[in-house]
Amino acid sequence: MKIVMAGAGAMGGRVGLYLTESGQDVVMLDKWQDHVDAMNDKGVTVHSYGETTNHKVKAVFMDDYNEPADLVILLTKALTAEETIDNLIKQGVITKETKVMSLMNGLGHGDMLLKKLSVEQVILAVTMWSAGLKGPGELILEGTGNIEFGYPDGHVDAFIEKLKVILDEAKLNGVISNDIVTSIWNKALVNCCFNTYCSVTDKRIGEFGAYEQADAMLIPLVKEIIAVGATKGAKLDLDATMEKFHKMYSPDVVGLHYPSMTQDIHNGRKTEVDFLTGAVSRFGDEAGIETPYCDILTHLVHQIEK
Ligand code: NAD
Repeated sequence: MKIVMAGAGAMGGRVGLYLTESGQDVVMLDKWQDHVDAMNDKGVTVHSYGETTNHKVKAVFMDDYNEPADLVILLTKALTAEETIDNLIKQGVITKETKVMSLMNGLGHGDMLLKKLSVEQVILAVTMWSAGLKGPGELILEGTGNIEFGYPDGHVDAFIEKLKVILDEAKLNGVISNDIVTSIWNKALVNCCFNTYCSVTDKRIGEFGAYEQADAMLIPLVKEIIAVGATKGAKLDLDATMEKFHKMYSPDVVGLHYPSMTQDIHNGRKTEVDFLTGAVSRFGDEAGIETPYCDILTHLVHQIEK
């Protein structure tokens, strides 16, 4: 299968590398020229548990590629996703036969893709893998994860079954979902809460959770997101969510981590907040549901973005 990684940063690098090593025909597209050059010149350098290894991949500057793909995996940051899809359609990489799988964090990617592509082409996914980008061509890859994926309406066809085999052969652990919308909202719920609150307070997840009134900050926000998610078909549960949050505070889980949004702010980069609490506010407006927590958190994060 001809697979194109649209965005080969930390996460696109990880997924693209694993698929390449399993024998798939993969091209890594990226707009960071130094990163593309480094991947082609010396391969992807992987730092993992104190070891460094080098891996051959094929990378091309995003605007210069024009061969049709069977599958495009979208892993830019959400901010540049729509422009990327428009350009890949113009460049002939995405044709009417190409499947496009969004693996980005956040909400609204399915709606964006369905404006441009047919319903048979759009696959949604959510991942528990993580990855870091140390510099051009240099990935930090530790931990494990999976990729849950499916068509928005949950039907399973031969392509979905083939994709599971491909992901499993690449050791990416594919999980076919018949309710990918709920899975995406479940991850977005975590990101809406901790990415925003930890960014505004400049705290690690465990430090935020150690505040004795953390639940009083979280519960109204979670309720808001659950109410709006329900209008999009997401089945979310308050008690299960809070139980999951409490487990996250442990240093053995993610208690010692700054969420990716907080890291983006530390690095002076724009965040994906408009695709998290910002998206919940937009969907709330459409559905006539008030979202004061999401509204103010989105504004606060924009205020501290540099
Ligand atoms: P990333 O920042 O590593 O890469 C995104 C893009 O930014 C790439 O095109 C990359 O080349 C470019 N970029 C990165 N650093 C740059 C620099 N210094 N100069 C110029 N360009 C630079 O983003 P990511 O972590 O791969 O995230 C992609 C998507 O995957 C996002 O939606 C994210 O939320 C999601 N995601 C990430 C992780 C993770 O652990 N990294 C986990 C799950 C989901």
